[in-house]
Amino acid sequence: MKRLYFRETPPAEYLDPRRASAFRRRLLRWYLDNRRVLPWRDTPTPYRVWISEIMLQQTQVGTVLPYYDRFLQRFPDIPSLARASESDVLQRWAGLGYYGRARRLHQAARILWPARQGKFPEEYEAVLALPGIGPYTAGAICSIAYNQPRPVVDGNIRRVLVRLLRIGGKVREGFFWDQMTALLPPNQASSFNQAMMELGAMVCTPHRPQCGSCPVARVCRALESGNPSRVPVKHPRGSRPVHLLVLLLEKEGRVLLASSGKPGFIPGAWGLPCRVLADAASAESEAARLIREITGRAVSPVPLPPFRHAITHRRITVHPFGSTAEPTTVQGGGYQWVNRKRGKDRVLSSLFRKALEAGAGAGA
Ligand code: SF4
Repeated sequence: MKRLYFRETPPAEYLDPRRASAFRRRLLRWYLDNRRVLPWRDTPTPYRVWISEIMLQQTQVGTVLPYYDRFLQRFPDIPSLARASESDVLQRWAGLGYYGRARRLHQAARILWPARQGKFPEEYEAVLALPGIGPYTAGAICSIAYNQPRPVVDGNIRRVLVRLLRIGGKVREGFFWDQMTALLPPNQASSFNQAMMELGAMVCTPHRPQCGSCPVARVCRALESGNPSRVPVKHPRGSRPVHLLVLLLEKEGRVLLASSGKPGFIPGAWGLPCRVLADAASAESEAARLIREITGRAVSPVPLPPFRHAITHRRITVHPFGSTAEPTTVQGGGYQWVNRKRGKDRVLSSLFRKALEAGAGAGA
């Protein structure tokens, strides 16, 4: 469960009915006049909302937009998505990251077609039962596409509530869901939930909330306190440094790729043989060990320039290695020799693409 920490103690009561009513009215009016034009808002069918919500998990709207349009062109409905191969779906997702999302989207489409005629379910429990859909996504789909009175709570909404109510102390996650349930206007769930998301994304931003242009400023307790940007106060989370060994084994101009099923791989994806290291000092000995495991031969690894790669909450130092001799055989399944150019098209992770470029630059 996600926890937030605040320095001050909680107030005794939250929004009274009069404030709550003013809040809803002001928020909805502002949203109707100021909402961004987004493709999934034009025609909010369950399928389009579903795809948008999955793509928007841990990803900014601006990043999602071009992927969303391309994905919808290739897979305009549930049957076309279900009929596609997993590798085709992953290729269309390439660059968005968090590939497990695409794989589960595909699994869900195959549950819905042909067995359920490709119809997206309306019942909240049935939506929640689909792969890759948790309470937030189920609430978002049911409220936005079907206007069902289902609450949603994400990072933006949590922040708006914390400031609006000027919450202090530790807060359990259920508190936010209770508040959203209490605030939700039964017949306007679609607009209300989107308005809360929009307010958090565009106005009540993490570092410099734009209180001067905020539609709910008159009912905001953090603003009353005089320093809204101090709320909430989170304990900083350090990002963990990770050292990753990556092998660039070449034979007759082709590079060795490893498939899913290998530890640390995105299911259904291809990448370079790799291994997480205990520390940077062990890189060369682990490279020698991994080469021996893959080729069955004791071949000396050749270090290539290490580089940094950052993903959410991780700082990765990548240690690429070539080898002094071309491998003759590869032991075990799940490997494939492909020429370098095809290799770059084949691997989904930008980390492996960078390693391939680093290897080419160093003449590996
Ligand atoms: S007044 Fe400021 S702190 Fe309060 S909800 Fe609006 S933007 Fe956020």
